[in-house]
Amino acid sequence: KIKVTDLHKQYADNHVLKGVNLEVKDNEVVVIIGPSGSGKSTLLRTLNGLEQPTSGSVVVHGEDIAKKDINIDKVREQIGMVFQHFNLFNNLPVGENIMLAPVQLGKMSKQEAKQTAEKLLKVVGLEDKFDAPVNSLSGGQKQRIAIARALAMNPDIMLFDEPTSALDPEMVGDVLNVMKKLATEDGMTMVVVTHEMGFAKEVADRVVFVDQGIIQEQGTPDEIFNHPKNERLKSFLSKVL
Ligand code: ATP
Ligand code: MG
Repeated sequence: KIKVTDLHKQYADNHVLKGVNLEVKDNEVVVIIGPSGSGKSTLLRTLNGLEQPTSGSVVVHGEDIAKKDINIDKVREQIGMVFQHFNLFNNLPVGENIMLAPVQLGKMSKQEAKQTAEKLLKVVGLEDKFDAPVNSLSGGQKQRIAIARALAMNPDIMLFDEPTSALDPEMVGDVLNVMKKLATEDGMTMVVVTHEMGFAKEVADRVVFVDQGIIQEQGTPDEIFNHPKNERLKSFLSKVL
């Protein structure tokens, strides 16, 4: 579904990604871990064309989105993304936030979008918030709305960049539970950057450890957490576990 080959990304003289090779299969949940500044967000953002690679290829649904002549809007319709800081429209009520993209991009009528929004609010456990102002929500609620909004486009891949890092601890579980449900019940293909090692152990099919701009090691949660081989991974785990 996604195939990244020899991906490099350079900002001026800062060589952030130095040859990443990564494959994500249908229905797979891949969790990316690694120290701050190692290039996790940069990698995730190249997967939906938010970031143009310096070299290498990023093939999504059989198309190399690193090529200049690709219709990147089409790609982003198929790939939902959820960020650390929600990026909701604070001046619009919850329902309108969720309906906005499918209506504006001509994917749904207003009526269809409304039904979709109501259905998705149930999925994320906020069915009573359709008319609520975004400002009235807690951080955990906002993040669940952000997930619903991404799902409204009916993507077949979801990218999450530290979706719980900005949340108060008591909100983290609600958001992780929505993500877990998405993975296990809906079989969503997901790439998740997170520091929640419990989520990685429980939900990931594969854990990828990124450091110094390359994938240092990848494997099943058991391989990565219980039998790490790479010295950098061992040292990272000793700090976060
Ligand atoms: P964190 O865990 O702190 O989120 P990260 O692994 O997501 O870190 P990135 O955000 O991918 O790391 O950043 C990797 C490197 O790329 C950093 O040195 C950062 O300063 C640099 N970088 C990221 N985005 C840009 C940009 N738009 N312009 C210039 N440099 C950037
Ligand atoms: Mg990041």
